[in-house]
Amino acid sequence: DTEKTSNFIRHIIEADLAAGKYAARAWSGKPGPAAQQKLGAGDTAKIRTRFPPEPNGYLHFGHAKSICLNFGLARDYDGACHLRFDDTNPEKEEQEYADSIIDAVRWLGFDWHFGAENNLYHASDYFPWMLAFAEKLIDAGHAYVDSQTPEEMRARRGTLTEAGKDSPFRTRTAAENRELFARMKAGEFADGTHVLRAKINMASSNINLRDPTIYRIRHATHHNTGDTWCIYPMYTFAHPIEDALENITHSICTLEFEDQRPFYDWLLTRLAELGCVNTPLPQQIEFSRLNLSYVVLSKRKLIQLVEEKHVSGWDDPRLPTLVGARRRGYTPEGFRHFAEMIGVSKSDSWIDFSVFEECQRQHLNDIAPRRIAVLDPVKLIIDNYPDKQEEMCEAPNHPQKPEWGKRPIPFSKELWIEREDFMETPIKGYFRLFPGNTVRLRYGFVIKCIGCDKDASGKITAVHCEYLPDSKSGTPGSDTYKVKGNIHWVSAAHAYAAEVRLYDRLFAVEAPGADGGDFISDLNQNSRITVKAQLEPTLKNAAAEERFQFERHGYFIADHVDSTSGTPIFNRIVTLKESWHG
Ligand code: ATP
Ligand code: MG
Ligand code: MG
Repeated sequence: DTEKTSNFIRHIIEADLAAGKYAARAWSGKPGPAAQQKLGAGDTAKIRTRFPPEPNGYLHFGHAKSICLNFGLARDYDGACHLRFDDTNPEKEEQEYADSIIDAVRWLGFDWHFGAENNLYHASDYFPWMLAFAEKLIDAGHAYVDSQTPEEMRARRGTLTEAGKDSPFRTRTAAENRELFARMKAGEFADGTHVLRAKINMASSNINLRDPTIYRIRHATHHNTGDTWCIYPMYTFAHPIEDALENITHSICTLEFEDQRPFYDWLLTRLAELGCVNTPLPQQIEFSRLNLSYVVLSKRKLIQLVEEKHVSGWDDPRLPTLVGARRRGYTPEGFRHFAEMIGVSKSDSWIDFSVFEECQRQHLNDIAPRRIAVLDPVKLIIDNYPDKQEEMCEAPNHPQKPEWGKRPIPFSKELWIEREDFMETPIKGYFRLFPGNTVRLRYGFVIKCIGCDKDASGKITAVHCEYLPDSKSGTPGSDTYKVKGNIHWVSAAHAYAAEVRLYDRLFAVEAPGADGGDFISDLNQNSRITVKAQLEPTLKNAAAEERFQFERHGYFIADHVDSTSGTPIFNRIVTLKESWHG
């Protein structure tokens, strides 16, 4: 699990470590500006990364890639990974989301503690420092208050091919700017009337360097700071500062931020010159985001699926949220293995959903005890088995792990078998039950089919057979019977009749909505089928979240939401083999 697959980010980190780039950083043990850090000792974390979610939604599989990457790097290089709630944007955040993010990171097997440090932070706690840094930038002539209307600002920004034009307010003195900024902060102005901008270059070929806005007026209540503030930093200003205050070494983000890197570097270089932030500075590194076929990984689309009730909620086992994944039965180990396997790169690519499923199967095969389940039951009656008799058969709990032992399963005259394991008129190559054919009841006896009963509509209501009493699996001579078919069964008198949910892919096409249509119309109408199954009796005692392989069918988990004690409901995690046919 900790096996390192090399990638370009690891190369950068290894080169930095070899060069001792971050070896002598001061660190007080908690976030803060340079002056405060200088009072501390050296940072004992070799590297610092961070996972910085905005607490405005549930995490999805894409976030899992970022979590595994950032926390995995910290783990492998003797460093720390911070969990930072990027909550600089008022209004949208909710505690419910923050709690679920904490659960998801823990569930994936990661921890934000480093030694005695508890590296869980809220970016909004840094507002006072951000304000102080903005004032320093103003004093040094690196920022000014712009009082143009948003339309005027847009008109002067220019285009990719045309340079922007300076704002008429760009030449305000530092004293004027300080006074106006103080009045913005004091709440004297309405939203949108003034902004604070970095003073860089309106003719830059990178539009992000054409005096980007760094503070705006927003009369809004913030979930953490309440009504303390009516000016809020822009994300592009806040994020580099958050990284620097936390002594982050490698700030890893997705490719769409590549064009922001020059501003990230400009800002932190100015702040270092002004003695605000610690050096060496953190470096931003971009990687391509996870694109996964047959799902959608955009918060907006996930919200739509939930709000329009195409799924049962954020934790619907079909949704690619991490709360959904947990309920579906996917394992954290499977996620970490998937993240290692797909690696990181700078080129945008799509990963097929089957790659994810295969990673899950590998781990599930290892951890899941085997059980018997009949998902589409039809009766099998053994005509020559005594009426009141019953006996025990033995089945291994894991075929590759004899140390897991065997368990008894009851056998009697009436069994449940899969409807598809009988054909009155067999097709070519069919080796299971049909009149005159002989098969083995797995872990039980060899039986010969003698016919079936039907109702008025022609539907088969029971299959009849005779058993060979000296053919019981595991008894001397039982292997002299050579049969091609081997079918599973449960004793009807002992079975646990359970609700089982057969989940499949949420979307019927690889790239939902890609054909220009609405992604909703690409939903797989058969992504959830509920059946009344007949299960081997011990499954009645399954604990919530216990996972099993139902032989011949796939991997299943006892649903932790809808199960009640003694009445578990099972979710299909994944079939045994790739079974998707589009
Ligand atoms: P969305 O774009 O769906 O709204 P987001 O990127 O705004 O999601 P954040 O909470 O800001 O969500 O993301 C936290 C971290 O997760 C960021 O560092 C972001 O780069 C990373 N992340 C989000 N989506 C993906 C993805 N598909 N692949 C890899 N990393 C991702
Ligand atoms: Mg975001
Ligand atoms: Mg985003």
